[in-house]
Amino acid sequence: MSRKEVIVLLGPPGAGKGTQAKELSQQYGFAHVSTGDVLREAVKQGTPLGKKAKPIMESGELVPDDLVAGIVSERVLSGGEGVTILDGFPRNLPQAEYLSGAAGDIPLFVINICLDEETVMKRLAGRRYCPNCGKIYNIFFSPPRQEGICDVCGSELAQRKDDREEVVAERLRVYRQQTQPVEDFYKGQGNYFEVDGAQEPEQVSKQMSTVIEQIQAN
Ligand code: AMP
Repeated sequence: MSRKEVIVLLGPPGAGKGTQAKELSQQYGFAHVSTGDVLREAVKQGTPLGKKAKPIMESGELVPDDLVAGIVSERVLSGGEGVTILDGFPRNLPQAEYLSGAAGDIPLFVINICLDEETVMKRLAGRRYCPNCGKIYNIFFSPPRQEGICDVCGSELAQRKDDREEVVAERLRVYRQQTQPVEDFYKGQGNYFEVDGAQEPEQVSKQMSTVIEQIQAN
C-alpha cells in the first residue's frame, strides 16, 4: 500500500502500544512514530524540547500540546507516501482535533488496545530493566532468578522514573481524565477498531493483523 495513511494506536500506558507498533512496522514496513520515544530521546540529548519535557514526564503529566503537535506535524504529516503508526498521540481532545484538522485528506484509522487498570499497574510498576545490557523484567510476570539482579550480566536492576507506583497512578488518572474522551471522539467517527490488550503479545499481534487487513481492504 503506497498511499499516505496514519494509524493511531490508542490505549492506556502499558497496553503494549510500543511493542505492537514495532511488530507492525516490521511485518508491514510501516513507519513508526512514538511521541513518548521522541521526547525521551530529546531528554537524553538535553535539547531545548527535552529540557522542557523532562520534569513533566517524570511527574506523569502531559507535555504541552504545541510541543507534541510539532513532533507529529514534522514526523508524521509531512513527507512522502506510506503508512505511519502514530503511538502516544493524541492524548487529549485538543490533540485529537488538531490531528483531524492537520491531517487534511490523509485517512486516519484508530486501533484502541484496551486494558484494565489493575493489569496496567502490575505491568508498569513491576517493570525493571538492566541499565547495563537493557534486558527487561517484571517482578510479577517475569522476575529475575535473584531479586534485583540481571540474569544475563549480574548488574543491579533499575526502575524507570515514570514507572514508580505513584507516577503510574498519576499516568492512569491523566489517561482516565484526558485520553478516554479521545476514544469516544473516534468511536463516533467510524474507522475505529478495538483489540483486547490483556492477551499474550502474540495473540494481540494476531488481532492487530486482522484489523490491518480490514483497513487495507478499505
Ligand atoms: P509514553 O511513552 O507514550 O507513555 O509517554 C511518556 C510521557 O511522554 C507521557 O507520560 C507524557 O509526559 C509524554 N507524552 C508522550 N506523548 C504525549 C502527548 N501526545 N501529549 C503530551 N505528552 C505526551
